[in-house]
Amino acid sequence: MAEDAARRDLVLYGRRLYEKGFVAATDGNLSARLAEGGFLATPTGLPKGELAEGLMARLDSEGRPASGKPSSEWPMHLAIYRARPDVGAVVHAHPPFATALACAGRGLDGAVLSEVIISLGTVPLAPFALPSTEGLAERVASSLGDHSAVLLANHGAVTVGPDVRSAYYRMETLEQASRIQLYADLLGGGRPLPEQAVQALRGLGEGYALAPLPCPACEGCPVAAGEPGAVVLRRDELARLLAEFARGHGRR
Ligand SMILES: [Zn+2]
Repeated sequence: MAEDAARRDLVLYGRRLYEKGFVAATDGNLSARLAEGGFLATPTGLPKGELAEGLMARLDSEGRPASGKPSSEWPMHLAIYRARPDVGAVVHAHPPFATALACAGRGLDGAVLSEVIISLGTVPLAPFALPSTEGLAERVASSLGDHSAVLLANHGAVTVGPDVRSAYYRMETLEQASRIQLYADLLGGGRPLPEQAVQALRGLGEGYALAPLPCPACEGCPVAAGEPGAVVLRRDELARLLAEFARGHGRR
């Protein structure tokens, strides 16, 4: 992802994790692989409801901190990026229903709910390891394999995607499916779909993708139209320029 977009989305979807109750206090962490090389990760010790673009930790292309202090679960994110060159973003959270399944030692086999087969597939369970350790990083990356999501025994969940938005929405789908699984269990257990239906739904899933976010500024935007001299400014850059202008104006 481009760095500006990654900073914006890490803040947006980090806050959404908090607002949805998928994390409490300082739980959870998000990261993105940058198109220009290296990574951005949410900082350690900061509630996901209080993130800001300028507070992200920057990692070099080897995953070593270049500025800021990344989440203590950064080694788990890095292990996933090393194992999966297709992954552009990683989201880790403790959503209550998915975490309940993980605490009960269960994954989500994906053969009960049509939507899950289409958009998420099977969700394996990674064996328990102490949080923030290399052991956890290795187990999560190897259990994730080629899947889009993995449950962490007695801990929580990880989802991945080409960008932060996709990884976040997979976490929403995972939590919704886990909640339905639990209710179905209370009613005597979900009835698995016939194998033929599962195969057909998997076929549908291959063409299923989250539509790209339309940019509301694109229509009539001089940058998108390639007009010479047109520039894009982040809010903090604009604030800095206005402050400089105000200082210069004050001296006259
Ligand atoms: Zn955690």
